[in-house]
Amino acid sequence: GAAMAKSKFEYVRDFEADDTCLSHCWVVVRLDGRNFHRFAEKHNFTKPNDSRALHLMTKCAQTVMEELEDIVIAYGQSDEYSFVFKRKSNWFKRRASKFMTHVVSQFASSYVFYWRDYFEDQPLLYPPGFDGRVVVYPSNQTLKDYLSWRQADCHINNLYNTVFWALVQQSGLTPIQAQERLQGTLTADKNEILFSEFNINYNNEPLMYRKGTVLIWQKVDEVMTKEVRLPAEMEGRKMVVTRTRTKAVPLHCDVIGDAFWKEHPEILH
Ligand code: ATP
Ligand code: ATP
Ligand code: MG
Ligand code: MG
Ligand code: MG
Ligand code: MG
Repeated sequence: GAAMAKSKFEYVRDFEADDTCLSHCWVVVRLDGRNFHRFAEKHNFTKPNDSRALHLMTKCAQTVMEELEDIVIAYGQSDEYSFVFKRKSNWFKRRASKFMTHVVSQFASSYVFYWRDYFEDQPLLYPPGFDGRVVVYPSNQTLKDYLSWRQADCHINNLYNTVFWALVQQSGLTPIQAQERLQGTLTADKNEILFSEFNINYNNEPLMYRKGTVLIWQKVDEVMTKEVRLPAEMEGRKMVVTRTRTKAVPLHCDVIGDAFWKEHPEILH
């Protein structure tokens, strides 16, 4: 505190580097699971997409948005999530290390805390870790391009993985054979293999797998039953109460085109 006497050791604080994020810019924290290729194997993730794992990731991201300040949108796919802090945020004086460490530690502890709710009969075998990075984007266009980049990555990986695992699980190819079969193929070729060999129309695959998950703040009517205390003759009865809360709501929509941003102008305002 201000009234506290300073010791002669206080000068060592000057060795701390200034990591203030440039003002008026969007601050993005992206985290990613450490060695989740192995983590997925050890915990018997369904291939190519384990929906329990994706829902757990989203629960952790919602917890981050609700516990921390100033996050306006988040986007997740696979073992990664990106969090966007509002341009004008002055949380922790915009120190990059504070943004990043609070996001990553809150996310990691939530992943362990909520594990059992999503993986009922799959025990957590060891403590997972996540890396984090901070990137600052100077304009709405660069921020939109950042999110488009992550969603394009989701699409490319998911299309590849969908064909790869169909070849392995349904055609009995070894992983090496499946990889060789897909070497040099274009998007159209992969769609064609899926359709002609497996009768899969890629566009009918679940949106969560193809688009990832966008979290934005929306007003939600929450219906809950409440124990009635008074008057005495009604004691012990339950009453249905509706109240409106603002929550981080998951969407599996396209963010590359303009439609999403036109529909939600408040995000970038
Ligand atoms: P690094 O530590 O460098 O990030 P990594 O093994 O985590 O290494 P990533 O590129 O992050 O590599 O890839 C994450 C991997 O985790 C995927 O390739 C996939 O094998 C696995 N994975 C993550 N989420 C899921 C999921 N929901 N369903 C199935 N597999 C998943
Ligand atoms: P911030 O988020 O800014 O760090 P804080 O409440 O964590 O806020 P700190 O300056 O880090 O503030 O102080 C940690 C506080 O946690 C202590 O003041 C004390 O109240 C409590 N605390 C931490 N460890 C112990 C402990 N072992 N026994 C009792 N109290 C503890
Ligand atoms: Mg990586
Ligand atoms: Mg990873
Ligand atoms: Mg990853
Ligand atoms: Mg503290």
